Amino acid sequence: MTIFTGMSERDLRTKPCPVCGKPAVETFQPFCSRRCADVDLNRWLSGVYAVPVKEEEDEDGAPAAKPGNEESGT
Ligand SMILES: [Zn+2]
Repeated sequence: MTIFTGMSERDLRTKPCPVCGKPAVETFQPFCSRRCADVDLNRWLSGVYAVPVKEEEDEDGAPAAKPGNEESGT
């Protein structure tokens, strides 16, 4: 995986996540979270590095759908 040649390896900690672009963390470097690491891993496992990833992880801060409060009491 050689994309940029000339970057210091020490910059790995501060390098942005190759998946989403967020600042990577030491625990999951060079990714920012286990989710992104998994995403990258899946890409490699699939053998294709240009496929859309299903964003259906449980660790997503997606806001839950609000229940339609349509109570038309008369
Ligand atoms: Zn990320």
